[in-house]
Amino acid sequence: MVHQANPSRYESMEYRRCGRSGLKLPAVSLGLWHNFGDTTLVDNSRQLLRRAFDVGITHLDLANNYGPPPGSAEENFGRILREDFLPYRDELIISSKAGYTMWDGPYGDWGSRKYLIASLDQSLKRMGLEYVDIFYHHRPDPETPLEETMRALDHVVRQGKALYVGLSNYPAELARQAIDILNDLGTPCLIHQPKYSMFERGPEDGLLDVLQEKGVGSIAFSPLAGGQLTDRYLNGIPADSRAASGSRFLNPDQLTEEKLAKVRKLNAIAERRGQKLSQMALAWVLRNDKVTSVLIGASKISQIDDAVGMLANRHFSAAEQAEIEAVLM
Ligand code: NDP
Repeated sequence: MVHQANPSRYESMEYRRCGRSGLKLPAVSLGLWHNFGDTTLVDNSRQLLRRAFDVGITHLDLANNYGPPPGSAEENFGRILREDFLPYRDELIISSKAGYTMWDGPYGDWGSRKYLIASLDQSLKRMGLEYVDIFYHHRPDPETPLEETMRALDHVVRQGKALYVGLSNYPAELARQAIDILNDLGTPCLIHQPKYSMFERGPEDGLLDVLQEKGVGSIAFSPLAGGQLTDRYLNGIPADSRAASGSRFLNPDQLTEEKLAKVRKLNAIAERRGQKLSQMALAWVLRNDKVTSVLIGASKISQIDDAVGMLANRHFSAAEQAEIEAVLM
């Protein structure tokens, strides 16, 4: 049944310009990496998408390999889109990516023109879309000439299969080269998607400066470090959490005493600010005006509400910033 969207959905979200482009993205975007594959009940995925849209989250991020199994997040999303959101297609920014292993053989991975163009065609079919709003190269390919990969991105825009293109996981200097090639081709890079959180500060070492200089936006993925920067693990590992799910991206071994001690200290600072740790962690990423949007994941509707609730308390005093730095050292 078509979703009857909340009429006031645009009132509390902030929309931020993506680099020097014409496009604005919500300060909070939703990623479909977890909780949208075939191992999740489709109705839970549907409820998450409905709530996200109702609170002004207009940007939904996918990739060819999201699942499990790979491809199933795009398929399930495509079904929900058809059933719930078709009238709202023009109110949504939908992204997909290719760059990690997707199918067997030499043409289902990395960054060749062959792989990128075939993969985007598959993604469009799975989602039932004529075009995606943003198509990313998901990770750098050390073997394919950068020029070939960027030409493939330029090509899909000229074909009308993507409106904008982006890069993900590219280090600063390679990003600079890729952005320059795309500019020369006449298809400016819209956005870069790096991993950035209180626990992952790599982009501060040059990448964010390159993006700002070049007028490219940025969207920080895993801003909660997969849930570590929340109150989820303060009292053990809940059975329904990512760390208990057998994920190779977040396992109990990563939740060391040293890390949990930091999380507890951060949690105390957040409490003093009158917000949850998850909210403080997102506000902290957005304190940097080089970041366009935080790209969260959610397994529950309340987590989406928490994320958006963060917008009411975004300011950090100099003393709070210093205190947080001291904890993160
Ligand atoms: P986060 O760091 O936001 O982690 C999300 C997880 O944290 C949730 O699934 C939930 O885990 C937990 N959580 C969220 N909110 C709360 C809360 N308020 N209280 C307690 N726990 C909370 O992001 P993800 O790692 O999920 O990544 C987000 C998106 O980034 C992906 O969906 C994808 O689109 C993108 N991404 C891109 C990559 C790339 O290479 N370009 C790589 C990885 C991600 P739980 O299940 O325990 O409830």
